[in-house]
Amino acid sequence: MSARILDGKAVAAKVRAEVARETQRFVEQRGRPPGLAVVRVGNDPASQIYVRGKIKACQEVGFHSEEHHLPEDAVTAEVVAVVRRLNEDPEIDGILVQLPLPRQVDEQAVLDAIAPEKDVDGFHLVNAGKLLTGRRGGIRACTPLGIMRLLEEGGCDPRGKKAVVIGRSNIVGKPLALLLLEADATVTICHSKTPDLAAEVRQADIVVAAVGRPKLVQGDWIKEGAFVVDVGINRLPDGKLVGDVDFEAAKERAGAITPVPGGVGPMTIAMLLANTLQAASAR
Ligand code: NAD
Repeated sequence: MSARILDGKAVAAKVRAEVARETQRFVEQRGRPPGLAVVRVGNDPASQIYVRGKIKACQEVGFHSEEHHLPEDAVTAEVVAVVRRLNEDPEIDGILVQLPLPRQVDEQAVLDAIAPEKDVDGFHLVNAGKLLTGRRGGIRACTPLGIMRLLEEGGCDPRGKKAVVIGRSNIVGKPLALLLLEADATVTICHSKTPDLAAEVRQADIVVAAVGRPKLVQGDWIKEGAFVVDVGINRLPDGKLVGDVDFEAAKERAGAITPVPGGVGPMTIAMLLANTLQAASAR
């Protein structure tokens, strides 16, 4: 039987509509819209496209948004100075520093400079620590948060399920594993040194692949009826965009599966908007 498709575009549109509605209420109450500032350094073409997408998404839900662009040769102190200014700006509720930064810029120093309550990417140590320790009120990383919402909308309650997360990055794998744990799943984190990935995936009721390798997860590894979430974004030599899961084969065994593109990707920006509204409401 062919799997249900977990349509990230549709769920993201629903989240954006919720944010737009709540933004109207926010404006009525506070007399100003929520504000997001995006800091971009240098001329990375992909970053330019991503930032444009984020600014456009902000405009669509009624946020104030602004881009701060620094030159390719900017040094750490200059980027940190911009972040500090935005920390003090009353019109700004969320600050996002578009990664990657040019080599000479100390990424950690820049991320650490963001006020935790404006850290809408959820990468600051304070927010990562709140997630780890189960404290309320922290801001959670957008992609993992989007995955949890996709699972929820797809009718997957992680409670008591066995979840396998492939990838242990600070922006996807690790925070997602913590969110699944918080939702009472039994979580296994796999990575490049996991000896038998297939054996781990075969046991999983929920599989999340966040590696960046086409067809890493093969169709016959998928347990019948499993929820499969593909975070990977890989550009093939022919220009086609694919995930980490062999989609065609996996969908014959999975109960539900996210496509690439149109799965996790659209959720990330939607959750950035939700996080900015949360940050604005909390101030
Ligand atoms: P990363 O490079 O920081 O981490 C990759 C992880 O994969 C590492 O933890 C590594 O241990 C693991 N890994 C590498 N080879 C492996 C193997 N053979 N078997 C098992 N694990 C292996 O990557 P990231 O930033 O977490 O991103 C992962 C993928 O998700 C990339 O393709 C990225 O483009 C994509 N991504 C998508 C979104 C989105 O919004 N859709 C957001 C973030 C990242």
